[in-house]
Amino acid sequence: MQERFGWRLGRLRLAAPGRARHPLRMVRAREAVRGRVALVGNAMRTLHPVAGQGFNLGLRDARALARLLEEAAWDGADPGAPERLAAYARRRARDQRRVLAFTELLVRGFTSPLAPVAWARGLALGLLELAPPARRALARAAMGLA
Ligand SMILES: Cc1cc2nc3c(=O)[nH]c(=O)nc-3n(C[C@H](O)[C@H](O)[C@H](O)COP(=O)(O)OP(=O)(O)OC[C@H]3O[C@@H](n4cnc5c(N)ncnc54)[C@H](O)[C@@H]3O)c2cc1C
Repeated sequence: MQERFGWRLGRLRLAAPGRARHPLRMVRAREAVRGRVALVGNAMRTLHPVAGQGFNLGLRDARALARLLEEAAWDGADPGAPERLAAYARRRARDQRRVLAFTELLVRGFTSPLAPVAWARGLALGLLELAPPARRALARAAMGLA
């Protein structure tokens, strides 16, 4: 790293004695809620970082859960009631499915050594380059603004 990064930050040292490897892949909890427990963010799933979507997805989980808890507070209802948490899981399922599918598509598209996949990837990137509105729409979708 020192050789590649240079000395802009001085000598690079290991902060911890050992190094660990973490596979970059999707890991998904079987259940988003159980009993009075609800998962958000990476506790619910981790994504490959290729699309930069994990944190955004976690923020949307937190917002959805906060809204449900706020509604419960207004109604004077039990915030941890199973049906309320089940509603949270349902509200988050579609967004999660969409982002997981998009991320997996990118992972496969960018890691496949198959020539037709590489060709399709180049074509898709070239078309995006030629179509700024499509590029903006994709960026908005990736930012969760679509
Ligand atoms: C290389 C890389 C690049 C990424 N780039 C992007 C990006 O561009 N855009 C994007 O949206 N997302 C990106 N992500 C994903 C994003 O970093 C994560 O989705 C996000 O940080 C998850 O936040 P979180 O709070 O859910 O979990 P975490 O960030 O994992 O936070 C969990 C915290 O809990 C602590 N903890 C764990 N167990 C315990 C315990 N038992 N007791 C107390 N504390 C505990 C951990 O130490 C940690 O601080 C990237 C991820 C990687 C690896």
